[in-house]
Amino acid sequence: MMTNLTTPPHTFENSLAFAQQADAQDPLRPMRERYHFPQSTEGRPVLYYTGNSLGLQPKQTAAYVQEVLHKWASQGVEGHFVGDTRWYDYHHALKPAAARIVGALPEEVTLMNTLTVNLHLLMVSFYRPSPTRYKIMMEAGAFPSDQYAVESQVRHHGYSPDAAIVELSPRPGEHTLRPEDILQAIQAEGDSLALVMLGGVNYYTGQLFDMQAITKAAHQVGAVVGFDLAHAAGNVALSLHDWDVDFAAWCTYKYLNSSPGGVSGVFIHQRHAQNTELHRFAGWWGYDDKTRFEMKKGFKAIPNADGWQLSNGQILTLAAHKAALQLFDEVGMEALIAKSRQLTAYLEFVIKEAAADQPDALTIITPADPQARGCQLSILTDHRGKQLFDYLHQHGVIPDWREPNVIRFAPVPMYNSFEEVYQLGQLLSQALKLY
Ligand SMILES: *Cc1c(COP(=O)(O)O)cnc(C)c1O
Repeated sequence: MMTNLTTPPHTFENSLAFAQQADAQDPLRPMRERYHFPQSTEGRPVLYYTGNSLGLQPKQTAAYVQEVLHKWASQGVEGHFVGDTRWYDYHHALKPAAARIVGALPEEVTLMNTLTVNLHLLMVSFYRPSPTRYKIMMEAGAFPSDQYAVESQVRHHGYSPDAAIVELSPRPGEHTLRPEDILQAIQAEGDSLALVMLGGVNYYTGQLFDMQAITKAAHQVGAVVGFDLAHAAGNVALSLHDWDVDFAAWCTYKYLNSSPGGVSGVFIHQRHAQNTELHRFAGWWGYDDKTRFEMKKGFKAIPNADGWQLSNGQILTLAAHKAALQLFDEVGMEALIAKSRQLTAYLEFVIKEAAADQPDALTIITPADPQARGCQLSILTDHRGKQLFDYLHQHGVIPDWREPNVIRFAPVPMYNSFEEVYQLGQLLSQALKLY
């Protein structure tokens, strides 16, 4: 599907008619019908702006999950080996679609575990500190799980977090990192830097980093580069292979709509994935799948990303992922991103309209540059933040509150509409007048 929605942002109008017209011209409009929308207490679909936390359920998911349950009920253990949806290599069929989303070769991707678990497993392979090169660079205020994972890895190797973790902070008075400051910090750490591990899109500010430039700069000082793509996968354009990123991991329950706690995705660049000697924590499912059931002593890794698997596949969550991936394949990332840019620009426009006569009420901290963000906008509120949030919530919106005073909205191009964005603007404007 290609987009033909070419309205430039400056022609936006803050009217229902305009929003409905934009929806009528949206080639992705039919996709909305393929998802279940939670209903408000009045029985209307909620205005769902939290696809960045838990994506909506595709209507197809139930059928694929049911298929697994049925196979289990009717075939028991034979389900592992019988039929074209056998569990033994169920995830193989999903790898190409997952790879298209992150810009990888299918053999560079595997689907296993959950995100934080995978970050640890990847650091086992890719954080190999030496007495002179032992530092990890990350965002100050990164998602807590990433902070705890990195702290504990550093300690595991006998370093103190204070000495070994380099945190990147925005300049005083600024909310996001300047791209040149990131590159400069990498150069400044030089030989002491073992690993750069950032979010592709920062969960709090919605800032999208220039992963290609960061990778290049890190490689120039001899560091390894990994990205946590929790907020990037299914949201922004990714070319992990071409950018030469060393590794990445993401969860599939945010933009990828693949069930709460669903299976996580992992990327390991081909030049590492083929290296069966690379240090790792091993399990039987990473063992050569032709001879796995000979149950022999001595680990023999699969020479691709599957060589990092520990356990047999989590088939129920893979089934949910399969349903979600098919919808991404139907649309394609290019068309999704084209709509995303329009929809997010429209949200930016209606937020500014809502606060037009109160310029200090709402500050959008997400970068204004479409190249430096995905669909999420993070809004720093004045003292009325919690009241605004509660008002929206009482009026059928599901937004997302982040302490101390940020409201995040993610208009998801797969299923959100211009009309919903218009309605959110109206509610914001009402709330700002009320309090
Ligand atoms: C959502 C998110 C997580 C969640 O980790 P789980 O292991 O899936 O619970 C971790 N890191 C980032 C950056 C996230 O956005």
